[in-house]
Amino acid sequence: MIIYDLNCDAGHHFEGWFGRPADYVEQKRKGILSCPICSSTNVKKIPTASHVKTQLTVSASEDEATKPSGQQVVSTHAMQALHRYIDKHFADVGAQFPEEARKIHYGEAEERNICGVASNEEAKELHEEGIEVHRLPPKPVEKEKLN
Ligand SMILES: [Zn+2]
Repeated sequence: MIIYDLNCDAGHHFEGWFGRPADYVEQKRKGILSCPICSSTNVKKIPTASHVKTQLTVSASEDEATKPSGQQVVSTHAMQALHRYIDKHFADVGAQFPEEARKIHYGEAEERNICGVASNEEAKELHEEGIEVHRLPPKPVEKEKLN
């Protein structure tokens, strides 16, 4: 497989992929080699072509590629902020979480924000009882606490 940089008479620059150099000649002779942009069959190989792929890689994935790639960093910061918020505003009831959540839900305990530990099973049961449970991602390790 060889790649030629090609130009049509309208100045469009594109790549032609050929199994072997003779294919280019043959396709051009038969007039089946045409510009993908304007369909002109007046196509020339650019003599100084490098095979560095710079053009005609536009595809659906380009949008993806231009999205910010710092998502992981952002989410770490967001997680730290979230956990700080929870530390401050939520009472940590640990393994009592399912029980406490039920008490609050059924009005047997003071209504407050709690956090704690629940198994998948327990979280599912709470959810089925109409109790709002949010799973927290693991707490990120803060750099200053590393030693
Ligand atoms: Zn063209």
